[in-house]
Amino acid sequence: MLTSMAGTLREHAGRLGSYVVMMLTSQGQARSHYRSAFDRELNSLFEVNALLKTYAPTTLQSQAVARLLDQVTLSYFAGSLPYAQRVAFESNIDNAPTPAEFTANYVPGMKSTEILREFIETSALTSFDRVRENAVKAMLVSASLAGMAIVVVIGLAYTLRRSLFRPMLAAIGQIDEIAAGNLATPPTMPHAGREVREMFQRLDILREQQRFKRHLEMERKSMTEELRRLSQTDSLTGLLNRRALGEAVGRLLSAKKTGFRGFSVVMFDIDHFKSINDRYGHAVGDRALQRVSEILGPCLRPDDLFARYGGEEFIIVLCDVSETSARSTAERLRETLAQAVIDGEHGLTVTASFGVDWRAQCTFEDWEKLAVVADKRLYQAKRNGRNRVCFSDALEEKTIVSAVKVGPAAPGVENAA
Ligand code: GH3
Ligand code: MG
Ligand code: MG
Repeated sequence: MLTSMAGTLREHAGRLGSYVVMMLTSQGQARSHYRSAFDRELNSLFEVNALLKTYAPTTLQSQAVARLLDQVTLSYFAGSLPYAQRVAFESNIDNAPTPAEFTANYVPGMKSTEILREFIETSALTSFDRVRENAVKAMLVSASLAGMAIVVVIGLAYTLRRSLFRPMLAAIGQIDEIAAGNLATPPTMPHAGREVREMFQRLDILREQQRFKRHLEMERKSMTEELRRLSQTDSLTGLLNRRALGEAVGRLLSAKKTGFRGFSVVMFDIDHFKSINDRYGHAVGDRALQRVSEILGPCLRPDDLFARYGGEEFIIVLCDVSETSARSTAERLRETLAQAVIDGEHGLTVTASFGVDWRAQCTFEDWEKLAVVADKRLYQAKRNGRNRVCFSDALEEKTIVSAVKVGPAAPGVENAA
């Protein structure tokens, strides 16, 4: 804008000179016309000069412009312009200068406006260049800052990924494994940050606690199992006790399959057992009870139940068995016991008396009735002479008791008896 204003000043000054030349070369009406044009041009000239004086020095921050403006004031406004005004006023008198003389006197004063225009133009261009250079510099600085920022962000992202995100994902995986019960120690996570390392240490502690908890749980289970076993077994012989026998019979009868042949209860009591205690002491008596279970246990089928009923009295439950089988089994057991050596050191043998009951059908509610009957028959066998099996309540010895030929008395027992 300042360059344009300086150009305008220069043009006004030129046109003003031209109007004076026109006035010098014209007459009458035409001269008045140029005179008016001269006045208008003069006003514009002052306005433009005032604007330049106000804005040019401050805008361009230049003492040189101020000096050039002073030079314009001096050479043109105080020199050429008053001369042109004077010629314009006196252009009708005879001694008015010729257009050439006027031009020769007027134009040198305009030179300062030309210099001012050129200077402002040059200053403006220089200023543009400076602005452009600064802009380029600023752009380069911004670009390098942006580049640095990108490098920092990429570095940060890499560091975060390596020291935070990856370890965090590994930690989540470890938590899932712990929750799923996998307590194996995972491989260590390299490059994890301090906080994340602490988190892994906490996870190690949690894993260790879980292992300990699992250990306690297993111990509790095995103790519970042991307690259950102890509560169900007779501690001396390892056989079922009476309570466990009832439960086992319940299970056996509820699992009854088709083609069920019958249910039998065999009770037996060691003959003259008291005399073993009396003669050899209770420890040998205890050992004799254990030996009875060891000797007769293997003679039974896996599904048969063998329990200590109390003292030296035992009970055997045979499920899915015919009446004939029940009898022959009881007989076989009696014979096996009678022939076994109970205590090698003392040459001890024992016999037992057996009572047997059998039914084709039996419910859980009824089974103890069979035990009562078998018990009664056991005592019947005792009364009939011991070491025999009794199958019936009838008193006739020959029909109700197994045909036993009682051999020579077992040394220990018979002697004790
Ligand atoms: P019977 O032929 O009439 O059955 O005579 P018995 O001597 O076997 O019968 P009795 O009822 O007179 O005696 C049983 C004995 O068994 C008495 C008791 O001290 C003994 N007894 C019971 N339980 C145990 C035990 O757990 N260990 C030992 N050592 N003896 C026991
Ligand atoms: Mg007895
Ligand atoms: Mg008894």
